[in-house]
Amino acid sequence: MRSWQVSEPKPIEQDPLLLKKVPKPEPGEGELMLDVHYCGICRTDLHIVEGDIAADYPVVPGHQVVGTVSRCGPETDRDLLGELRGAYWLHSACGECSYCLRDEENLCTDPQFTGLDVPGGFAQRMVVRTDYSVPISASISPAHAAPLLCAGIIGYRSLRLSEIQPGERLALFGFGSCAHIVIQVAHHWDCEVVVYTRSENHQRLAREMGAVWVGEAGDEPQLRADSAITFAPAGPVVVEALRAVRPGGTVAVNAISMSDIPQFPYRLMYHERTLRSVAHVTRRDAREFMQLAAEIPVETQVQVFDFEKLPAALQRLKDSEIDGSAVLKVECGHLD
Ligand SMILES: [Zn+2]
Ligand SMILES: [Zn+2]
Repeated sequence: MRSWQVSEPKPIEQDPLLLKKVPKPEPGEGELMLDVHYCGICRTDLHIVEGDIAADYPVVPGHQVVGTVSRCGPETDRDLLGELRGAYWLHSACGECSYCLRDEENLCTDPQFTGLDVPGGFAQRMVVRTDYSVPISASISPAHAAPLLCAGIIGYRSLRLSEIQPGERLALFGFGSCAHIVIQVAHHWDCEVVVYTRSENHQRLAREMGAVWVGEAGDEPQLRADSAITFAPAGPVVVEALRAVRPGGTVAVNAISMSDIPQFPYRLMYHERTLRSVAHVTRRDAREFMQLAAEIPVETQVQVFDFEKLPAALQRLKDSEIDGSAVLKVECGHLD
C-alpha cells in the first residue's frame, strides 16, 4: 500500500513528505484495520511535518480519519467488519494511571496520539483500536465527517467544560473551524451565542450563522454571557472572556499554548467565576459528539484534495488559502 511519510522534518517548501510503498499494517488484539477513505488535514499535521512538534520520525501524520473496517485483529469483535469508523487524535491511553482510572484518559501520563506516535491516516490503510475509534453515521458524508473528528470533538469538549446549559448564553472568542462547529451545537441546545473576533470575514460569517451579537475582543460586552470559550492563542483574550461572563460563569480556554495572560484585577474572577483549560479529548467526547453531529446534523465546509496532492494542500494550509477544512481523499483499491 502507499503511505505519506516524514523521515526528516523541514519546512513544507523543502518537500519533507515522501510517498512510500509499505507493507499493509497488521491489526493486533483489540485492533482493526481501516481502508482509509478520507483524512482531514490539520494545522497540527503541518507542525509535525515541519518539526514544530517533536516526534520519533519517520511519522505518518493524519488524525481525522474515516475508513471502512477491512480486517479485525485476533480476539476482536468481527461484527465490526465493513463498518464505517473514525479515528481521532487520541489513539490510546495506558488504562492504568490514576487519570485513566477516573475516565480522564485525555490527561493520561502515557498516551499515544494518532499520526504522531502511531501511523495516521495519510495512508491507504491504518490500524485503530476498537475502543478508541468511533462509528461514523451513514447520515454524514465521509468527507464531511473527517473535520468533525478533530475540531468537532475538541469543540464539544470545550462546550462541556464551559458548563453551558440549554437556553443559556455562550460567548465565543475567535471564530475559526472549531467555533463554526461549536455554534451549531450551541444553537441545537437553544443557547444564544455572542462572538468576539477581529476578522471581518469571521464577523460576517458569525452573523450569517446566527450569532445574536458580534464584536471584537475588548468591546464592552453588550450581553453578559453565562459561559465563554476562547480559541485565540492570545493571553489578553482570556481576560476579556472573564470580563464577559456573569458571576458563577465559566471560561474554557481551548489552546495548546498561548502568550502570557496579563495581570488582571481579582474582581474579574471574584464572584465564583471559573477559569479552566481544555486538553485533548476522551472517548466519551468522541462518541457523544459524533452521535450528536449526525443528529443535528452539523455542517462543515470542506475542500477535498487528491491523495497525491497532500504536500500542495499543506502548503495552502500554511499560506491560509483553505476555505473551510482541507480533507485528503484516499483511495484504496487500485493504488495497491
Ligand atoms: Zn487536528
Ligand atoms: Zn493513563
